[in-house]
Amino acid sequence: MSGDYKTIETKLIHAGEPEPLIEGAVSIPIFQSSTFEYAGQSNYHDLKYIRLNNTPNHVALHRKLAALENADAAVVTASGMGAISTALLTFLSSGDHLLSQDCLYGGSHEFITKDLAKLNISHDFIDGDDPNSWKEKLRPETRIIYAETITNPLMQVADLKAIAEFAKANRLISMIDNTFATPLYFRPSEWGFDISLHSCTKYLNGHSDIVAGAVIGSSDLIKKITHKLNHFGATLDPHTCFLLHRGMKTLAVRMRCQNESALKISEFLEAHPAVEKVNYPGLKTNPEYQRANALLDGFGGMLSFELKGDVERADRFIQRTTLPILAPSLGGVESLITRPATTSHSGVSPEERQALGISDTLIRLSVGIEATEDLIEDMQRALKE
Ligand SMILES: *Cc1c(COP(=O)(O)O)cnc(C)c1O
Repeated sequence: MSGDYKTIETKLIHAGEPEPLIEGAVSIPIFQSSTFEYAGQSNYHDLKYIRLNNTPNHVALHRKLAALENADAAVVTASGMGAISTALLTFLSSGDHLLSQDCLYGGSHEFITKDLAKLNISHDFIDGDDPNSWKEKLRPETRIIYAETITNPLMQVADLKAIAEFAKANRLISMIDNTFATPLYFRPSEWGFDISLHSCTKYLNGHSDIVAGAVIGSSDLIKKITHKLNHFGATLDPHTCFLLHRGMKTLAVRMRCQNESALKISEFLEAHPAVEKVNYPGLKTNPEYQRANALLDGFGGMLSFELKGDVERADRFIQRTTLPILAPSLGGVESLITRPATTSHSGVSPEERQALGISDTLIRLSVGIEATEDLIEDMQRALKE
């Protein structure tokens, strides 16, 4: 259901909405009913029941999400990790193998390296920049290749086109975590990816007040994943569906503001003598700028940087800023700041972190929708020693 609306701004508002409007309600009502009257369904998965992901609040969200990425279908989940774990376990069983980009969201990294390993599902990490090195890691039992559009916390953009092509050539299912780019800036199906994953906790909802996830792709794959989800039970409840639905409508305006601000802040930091390095794919000095520019319609609101000096210096800076809140997570209207070694990537061993290039002094900023000049002034003050 890609809808008849041309632009993503219009789809965010109108795609997937009930037709006709329910009792004329402009905002979709919350269907707070666990079960619904039997209507002659012959299949378990078609019974209307919240866990089976098919209440009116689910259906409207599924249609809207599919339309945003020009895909056939979507399913929402109780969290981003619910989306990732359910999608992976739909297609992997004991003895299977997957290829994965080497620098992943901490939770996904642990799920692949620890939980899947316990189920006798093995993995190899690939260098997203070096397509020639992938073939040698391929095995007869390889099923999936897994990537992230913009990686956390170094904001790297892999050769995504090559990943989707490699999957097609080798009959793998390609999955991409599109949380950081959002459907506004990257639509995986248009580049040949089979499955797009989201933590809707972040930009799609945008207000740091729920956890939710989504899987987007072709109807047959989404049907398989939904059946698995119906059994695993990582279902989004209707009230949270409603909040996500409401939050999503402002995605385009929020994201543009955050994207613009993140670029200005990156440029400010890059020019500052106390700053060692800035990671933002929209910076023209970024080695991956050309590739990111070809793949993405925007670079998002996430950046990371290293100050000159030690961990104490980095922590002092974080403490001295007054606007960004020191908190994990990202993608909300308020700026959030963290040191990934102590938060999102604390589950990754220090040796692995070092190998991935995540230094203990690295600071990550999720840019909110505060005035850019206020954020820059705040950081300028915090950088003075
Ligand atoms: C937060 C995040 C997740 C996990 O999402 P939850 O909603 O917290 O379960 C997965 N991938 C990325 C890139 C994330 O930022």
